[in-house]
Amino acid sequence: MSSVHDLTVAQLAARLRARELSAVEAATHFLGRIEQHAGLGAFLATDPEVTLAQARAADQRLAAGDTAPLLGVPIAHKDIFVTRDFPSTAGSKMLAGYRSPFDATVVTRLAQAGAVTLGKLNCDEFAMGSANENSAFGVARNPWDRSRIPGGSSGGSAVAVAARLAAAATGTDTGGSIRQPASFCGITGIKPTYGRASRYGMIAYASSLDQAGPMARTAQDCALLLSAMCGPDPDRDSTCLDRPAEDFARTLGDSVEGLRIGVPREFFGEGVAADVREAIDSALAELCKLGASLVDISLPRTELAIPVYYIIAPAEASSNLSRFDGVKFGHRAKDYADLLDMYKKTRAEGFGDEVKRRIMIGTYVLSHGYYDAYYLQAQKIRRMIADDFRQAFTQCDVIAGPVAPTVAWALGDKADDPVANYLADIFTLPASLAGLPGMSIPCGFGAGSLPVGLQLIGNYFGEAKLLNLAHRYQQATDFHTRAPQGL
Ligand code: GLN
Repeated sequence: MSSVHDLTVAQLAARLRARELSAVEAATHFLGRIEQHAGLGAFLATDPEVTLAQARAADQRLAAGDTAPLLGVPIAHKDIFVTRDFPSTAGSKMLAGYRSPFDATVVTRLAQAGAVTLGKLNCDEFAMGSANENSAFGVARNPWDRSRIPGGSSGGSAVAVAARLAAAATGTDTGGSIRQPASFCGITGIKPTYGRASRYGMIAYASSLDQAGPMARTAQDCALLLSAMCGPDPDRDSTCLDRPAEDFARTLGDSVEGLRIGVPREFFGEGVAADVREAIDSALAELCKLGASLVDISLPRTELAIPVYYIIAPAEASSNLSRFDGVKFGHRAKDYADLLDMYKKTRAEGFGDEVKRRIMIGTYVLSHGYYDAYYLQAQKIRRMIADDFRQAFTQCDVIAGPVAPTVAWALGDKADDPVANYLADIFTLPASLAGLPGMSIPCGFGAGSLPVGLQLIGNYFGEAKLLNLAHRYQQATDFHTRAPQGL
């Protein structure tokens, strides 16, 4: 019998329902591992008392015959989701020790589905970053090679799942923060269509882009979690779509015979490292073996996604982060002369360098005289990027390519070079700007035996199709079952 931490969410849920394992036993096992592997820097907060109380409640529900899909399954949340029972920091000193008076909708939904919370996961400050190096609370380490970054901004989530410290985790993706760390840590993650999941209680970065999604080891597990996370939230998030919750696992067994997979030539240019390219090419060949066919497509504005995103996201961030002024919650400077001085000192002390940089860029591009030249222009190109996808989806059903141009880089390598970090986001930003669903699935290993992720991009509301394709691929391959050594 495999260890509790080797079980997938689906297997754990089945064991728990069969009463072969109790929720308290499962939670205790994972809490032990979290402590044992604290050096990975995955968790920012745990509270065994809270977790075990939730596990006992799950056991009672199980005993009463409750059939909630995730009953007793231990998961953890990116510290961007606010939680009543754990501190919520967004990886920022600004919110160190902050307790929210309410739970994010996604947290509530997963709790209703029966999941037990192990704690809160490390991330880049306010989800701004691609390496988890912008967290105010220390780096997270890639379990495949601890001298490497795990990716970001949901770095802690990817580490926790890859190192089997949690059966699954939540993440958020504004420009790639679920897909890229999933790719770098060899796990599976999906960002749904913008508006599928409620943003209520997700500490806002760039509101027109932010989306929640699950990170787990298999597509099947992602389907289970995503089904619980999505659905309308009419009183709390007006951008959350009025579409009924879906069972994303319902078509997992379907054949992919005849599926047309678009391969954008711009995703295979010279910037893509040879090891990544090789893994992606064999993944595409595998998809063909499953009955899909490849179609050559073009997403001509791929490169423009970087400047466009790095105008729009900071613009929205500069507005969203204006609420951190030291008045109602969060950090407040101690010594100050007057109100303005208090704001200044509070923000100077509370925010890290990258957050400050983005607030300044955002304020600049929105300012009088520059708005038209930068922000408005970026919005227009954003629309054109979405149109490119619309055009592409007349020729294919799903788009496939790399998640990132390289495998995970060494800690510190790009820490002082913000632009190098931005450039690494090139393949995840386009789908974010268009609001399309995207996922990452493990498809091989590159230099240094580090994982490579295949990105699948779907049309609006095409999550079930993506998950189905990913599931079929995972039935035919075993990359998603590999685990880092020494854990
Ligand atoms: N790396 C991108 C950024 O720094 C994306 C982050 C995210 O998706 N939250 O903004």
